[in-house]
Amino acid sequence: MLQSQDTEVTMPHALATPSDLMNHDIYIDTFFENASPMGWEQIQPGVIALHPIQDHQRFSPNMQISHINLKLLTDDPAKRQSVRFVIRRISNCWNGRRQPAITHSPMSWAVSSDDQSWQNILGQPLDDPEFAMAFDVPVTAPCMHVARMVPYTPTHLQSWLATIAQSQWVDIKHIGQTVENRPLEMVQVGDANAPHHILLRARSHPWETAGNWIMHGLVDQLLNTNDSHRHLLEKMCFWLMPMANKDGVHRGMTRFNICGMDLNRNWDRPADEQLAPENAALEYWIEHHLQSGKPINLAMCLHNDSGGQLHPGLTNKPDYAYKMKRLEDLLRRHTWFTEGSQPPGCGGADVFSGGLIERYGIDTIVAEYNAERIAKFNRPPLHWDWITYGRKLVAVLCDYFELSQP
Ligand SMILES: [Zn+2]
Repeated sequence: MLQSQDTEVTMPHALATPSDLMNHDIYIDTFFENASPMGWEQIQPGVIALHPIQDHQRFSPNMQISHINLKLLTDDPAKRQSVRFVIRRISNCWNGRRQPAITHSPMSWAVSSDDQSWQNILGQPLDDPEFAMAFDVPVTAPCMHVARMVPYTPTHLQSWLATIAQSQWVDIKHIGQTVENRPLEMVQVGDANAPHHILLRARSHPWETAGNWIMHGLVDQLLNTNDSHRHLLEKMCFWLMPMANKDGVHRGMTRFNICGMDLNRNWDRPADEQLAPENAALEYWIEHHLQSGKPINLAMCLHNDSGGQLHPGLTNKPDYAYKMKRLEDLLRRHTWFTEGSQPPGCGGADVFSGGLIERYGIDTIVAEYNAERIAKFNRPPLHWDWITYGRKLVAVLCDYFELSQP
């Protein structure tokens, strides 16, 4: 992992004049799929100030910016070893409290020169009234991709779906459309007549990519062609909603859908079909599935935050607390997970977990993955860590449902 070259970074406060920048060899591209909306300016030769733009919750002071995804273009990479980025101080707002969007701890960034291999660099917090953080991006190619986490776009999803659709164990259906009419997929992996059914949802918050990589690892492992995995797919059927907030992912947003709705909220009542069709489609699918006589034995909603814990719902449902504790223990046994669980019930039936338990009786949990650090390895995560976790999830669920391990 690279670090900013100076641990004590000081900011040049005199703005360069346009004539200082006449030899302007840097361009920041923010107009591609999943690029984050943002302002930028070269304030000194080789120093780019970023002004990310929050997305807002409808009729609420809540706003959040966590997603940053841009391309750094230089006309002659041989001219520069690196470009320094500094991020302006901006606020998030959550539950009526304003908080700095960039905190005082180091923050990891993913950088690639070819969109294939990625490395983490570490940004350093600044003691500066105007700028919150600085990080240096090494320039090794004319286009350097820079993002908070390794990006995963609707195009990545399409390509993955086309690959796994070849398997006899996979069936992909559209269960509805987003506000902007993008299709919402439900991916079935396994035998529809299996006794155990597991629902996983990713990207209800668009910047949180871990869920997609976890699904990659999980499906890779499940489709591993040998007889023992075949046996598993007759016992467990997976239903994956891989990109719930596809409009938000396309547009490079952080949390809400394009109507300002939080797709991990309002689960205590039927979804608004106009404002949150992404949730209405999933509700309709769940109701149909249950009416057809098939169970949903476990549902997980996959997220990123800066804690990485499990968030069980609050319920008197018999055995729920025991089952979620068992799930936690199995994750500790089979994966790198050590982060533990929050006390049950944060958000009540309003959040996905509480709502699905309350309305449909489904054992549901929200699983967060720390975007900054994997505690067990004491380093920032890359997408490979989540793929590995997804592979191991098969063993976790085998034990959870007391099936023999492949
Ligand atoms: Zn989230």
